[in-house]
Amino acid sequence: MNLFSNIEEQIKTLSDRLNRYNYEYYVLDQPTVSDIEFDRMLKELEHLEQEYPQFKLPSSPTQRVGGQTLESFRQVEHRYPMLSLSNTYSKEEIADFVKRAEELLARTDLEWVCELKYDGLAISLSYNNGMLVQATTRGNGITGDDVTQNVRTIKSVPLQLREGDYPKSFEIRGEIVYPHKAFEEFNKKRIENGEEPFANPRNAASGSLKLLNPQEVAKRKLDCLLYFLLCEESEPLNSLSHYQKLQKARQWGFNIPQYFAIANGIEQIMEFIEYWDSARKDLPFDIDGIVIKLNDSTLWNQLGATAKSPRWATAFKFKAERATSILESVDYQVGRTGIITPVANFKPVWLGGTWVKRATLHNEEQIRKLGIRIGDEVMIEKGGEIIPKIVESKHLDNNPSPEFEFIKQCPVCGSVLVKEEDLAGHYCPNYNHCKPQILGRFQHFVSRKAMNIDSIGGEKVKYLVDSGLVSDFADLYSLSADKLIGLAAADADKKVSIQAKGAANILNALRESKSVPFERVLYALGIRFVGEVVAKKLAKTFKTIDNLMLAKYEDLIQTDEIGDTIAQSLINYFSNEENRVLISKLKAAGLRFEVEETSVGSALSGKTFVVSGSFVSYSRDGIKKTIEDNGGKVVSGVTGKVDYLVCGEKIGPEKKRKAETLNVKMITEEEFKALL
Ligand code: NAD
Repeated sequence: MNLFSNIEEQIKTLSDRLNRYNYEYYVLDQPTVSDIEFDRMLKELEHLEQEYPQFKLPSSPTQRVGGQTLESFRQVEHRYPMLSLSNTYSKEEIADFVKRAEELLARTDLEWVCELKYDGLAISLSYNNGMLVQATTRGNGITGDDVTQNVRTIKSVPLQLREGDYPKSFEIRGEIVYPHKAFEEFNKKRIENGEEPFANPRNAASGSLKLLNPQEVAKRKLDCLLYFLLCEESEPLNSLSHYQKLQKARQWGFNIPQYFAIANGIEQIMEFIEYWDSARKDLPFDIDGIVIKLNDSTLWNQLGATAKSPRWATAFKFKAERATSILESVDYQVGRTGIITPVANFKPVWLGGTWVKRATLHNEEQIRKLGIRIGDEVMIEKGGEIIPKIVESKHLDNNPSPEFEFIKQCPVCGSVLVKEEDLAGHYCPNYNHCKPQILGRFQHFVSRKAMNIDSIGGEKVKYLVDSGLVSDFADLYSLSADKLIGLAAADADKKVSIQAKGAANILNALRESKSVPFERVLYALGIRFVGEVVAKKLAKTFKTIDNLMLAKYEDLIQTDEIGDTIAQSLINYFSNEENRVLISKLKAAGLRFEVEETSVGSALSGKTFVVSGSFVSYSRDGIKKTIEDNGGKVVSGVTGKVDYLVCGEKIGPEKKRKAETLNVKMITEEEFKALL
C-alpha cells in the first residue's frame, strides 16, 4: 500500500469510527469509549484532513455537530444554527485561542466571560410575547427534536415570563441536567425495581428527554441551566454585552446559575479554570469544563464560526475525574461468551456524580501491570461515560496481603479456565452448561438488535431460565400464555409480573421474531466473535445455515473480514452436537436460516416512502426493509418529494396533517401489500 492509499484508509477508518461513537453517545446514550479518547481521535482526524484535504469525506464527523434527530419526535429547523464548541484539554491552547482573537481583532483589552460547562444535554427554548412556545434539542445543529411537552415539565423553565423588557420573540439556550440528589434517588428506585441504573447524570438527563410520555419526564426532577440569549439583530438587546444579557435573562425569571465571571486576560481565565477544577466536586450538578466567551457580542460576527463551532468561544475540558480508595476484594464476572472479567470492590468513593464502589480490572495482564494486592490504595478513574477503571495502585507499607493470583477455575461452574492465545483474557470453556453464559446468551438472543423480543428482557428472561422453564432458545417458542402467567404467579420475590396483556405481548413478539432475517438470527445465536457485522458478511456469503455448517476452515477464511479467530470459533461452534440440535429445533420452530432472495429494483423502484404507526404483519424495521428490498427508499419526514405515506395504527398526527397538505398519497398496510 502506498502512503496515500494508507492515509485515505486511515481517514476513512477514523471517520467511520467517530461516526459510530457519535451514534452510540448521542442516540443510544451508551458510549463505548471515553471522551478523552474520542476527542483525541477527532483531533487526529482534523489534523489528517488538514494535511490531506483531498481525502476528507462528505460525512466527516469534523464537519458536523454530533447529534441526530429521533424518529419519534417532530423535527424542527433551528432559527439560528445550534453549534457545538471547539474544545481542548490544554491550557496552552486556551492561551493560543485568546491570542488569536486578540490578533484578529487587533486589540489587547478584550473581556472574556468564563462560565461553567454544564454536563447535560443542549436545549433551545423559544419565547413569543413572554410565553414558552417551543423547546428543541440540538440534533444535528440544523434540525432538532421538538421536546416542548417534556421540557414544560421542568420546574425551573418559566412557561410565562415575568414583566420585563424582553424582545417579542427570542431564543434562550442552555443545558438540561440531572442534579446529583435527584439522580441518586432516581437510580436507587431503578435498582429497587430491578432496572439497570443509569451510568451518570448526563446519560440519565438525555435518556429522560427522549421519553415519549411527559408524565414520566415530570417524575425525573430535571433542571435547566441557561447560558445564551439570541434574538434578531435589530433588537436593542443586542447592544448589550453577553454578561449583561445573562443578567437580564435572570431578571426575567430564567435559571441563570451564578457561577460566571468576567476575566481580563489569560491569567484571570486560568484562575477561574483552576478554581473550578477543584471546586466542581461541591457543585450540585456535573460540569465537564469551563466555557470562555468573548463578552462584547458585537464583535462575534467579525470572528465568525466554523461548520461546527463559533470562533468567539471555546471550552476547556477537565480531565476525567479520579479518586482513591482501598481495595477490599476482587470478584469475577462471567460474560455470555465465557470471558472472565475481574472486578475490583473498594470502599465507596464519590466520583463523576455517583458513588462508585466497583471498577473493572479488565484481565490478568492488567492486574499484573498494576501489581495490586487486597488492602492497597487504588486510584479509580471515570473517563466520560464508560465503566470506571483502576488506573494505579500503591502498596501500603503495613499491608500484609500477598501478591494477587488470577483464578484458575470458573467461579461459577468450576471448569478449568482457558487462557486465550494472543488475547489477554481467560475464558470458561463450558459453553453449554455454565449458568451466567446461558443467561447472558438468552439476554443477547432476545435483545433488540438480535431477535427483538425485548418484552421478555431483563428480570423476566432471567426468571424463565432460573426456573428451568426454558433451557435453550427453542424452548422460548413453545411458551404459552398459561405457562407465562403461572410462572410469574409462582415468583416468591414478586420481581416478575406477567398478566394476560404482558403474556400476549411476549407471544406476539416471539411470533414476529420468526420473520427476523437470517443475518440477525445468526447474530442472535451468540457465537463467539460473531457480532452484527460478521453475521451479515457470513449470511451474504453462505446464504444458508446449512452451507455455513458445512464450510471448512479454508472456505471461511476466504470470506472478507473473516480471519483465523472467527473461523476457528465457527468450526468449534458447529462441531458441538448440542449446538447442531439447537439449530434444528429453531428451524422447526420457524426461524429463518436462509437469506431471503430479494428482488431489488422491482415493484417499488424509484418510489419514496414514509412509514408511521404500527403494523399487523410487519415490525417497523421490517416494513422499512421490505420497501428497500423492493427498490423503494424510506425517509423519515413527509415532504413534497414523498410518494406514499404508509399508515399504520396510531399514525403520527403531524405526519398525517403534512401528507394531507402536501397531497402525499396515504395508503393502508393492505394497500401497501397490494403494491408489492
Ligand atoms: P461539548 O460537550 O464538547 O461542548 C459543547 C456543548 O457544551 C454545547 O453544545 C452546550 O450544550 C454545552 N455547554 C455547557 N455549558 C455551556 C455554556 N456555559 N456555554 C455554552 N455551551 C455550554 O460538545 P458536544 O458537541 O455537546 O459534545 C462533543 C463532546 O462529547 C466530545 O468532545 C466528546 O468529549 C463527547 N463525545 C463523546 C463520545 C464518546 O463516545 N465518548 C462520542 C461523542 C461525543
